[in-house]
Amino acid sequence: SRKSRAALTSLWGGKTRCVVTLTFDIDGPSATLRRNPELADHPSAISMGEFGPRTGTPRILELLDRHDISATFFIPGWVAERNRELLKNIGERGHEVAHHGYLHEPPSSLEPDEDEGQILDHASDILESITGERPQGYRSPSWELSANSPQLLHDRGFGYDSSLMGDDIPYYVGEKDRRIVELPVHWSLDDAPYYTYMPVAGRTATMSTPNDVLTAWQWEFDGVYQYGRLFMLTMHPQVTGRLAKVMVLERLVQYIRSHANVGFLQCIDVAQSWTEKGM
Ligand code: ZN
Repeated sequence: SRKSRAALTSLWGGKTRCVVTLTFDIDGPSATLRRNPELADHPSAISMGEFGPRTGTPRILELLDRHDISATFFIPGWVAERNRELLKNIGERGHEVAHHGYLHEPPSSLEPDEDEGQILDHASDILESITGERPQGYRSPSWELSANSPQLLHDRGFGYDSSLMGDDIPYYVGEKDRRIVELPVHWSLDDAPYYTYMPVAGRTATMSTPNDVLTAWQWEFDGVYQYGRLFMLTMHPQVTGRLAKVMVLERLVQYIRSHANVGFLQCIDVAQSWTEKGM
């Protein structure tokens, strides 16, 4: 066991046993509007999304402050344009602001008149105009990259993508000279599949209880801690910003903090240290 512990330590460097990245996709109503444009005339459905930027995100920011954690916020350009002060505030608090499409368009299923590169540039311009910094990280809407995405991201100087599920530590995707770091995700570490209930959009599966989700995420963390991997948690302020769910997040943070040598990092810092290590 001494041998395996040494091997784990070398993965992240120093005493760091595993790395935790808390990430929040501020989708607002964009994903709903993209999937069902006719719901633009359905205020109830739109309001579920609006809860995220209006109430969920400030509540989450306060929690992160209280626990002194820097996180990563992925936001579609369309949502950013409508919540400029919020986005400015996120950046000023020292969190990472990253790219999440314009109107939550999955690159794998664009319309013939939509250009993936143009969407990337347009939303980057919007984020830069608000925060003063061009986003270096990218997460594809609905976690659906196209075959061209890694090259397009590399050519635009992005530092990482976070959309794929091929490992549970960072790895590289794309052609040899145009590759990009991938910070992998998984549905089991996403709040939406556990909690989303939205009959008007056809989502009527029974919601998980807060206890079920906390237990599932504690199990996931136990595995990450034992094996020394990456705990990439994806949340949505319109979901995890709700009262019982934000308490799940807080108890999870307390649980993780009861373990030694865990690094809470922003995605861009994980990607840069991975690249510097030349792994
Ligand atoms: Zn999203």
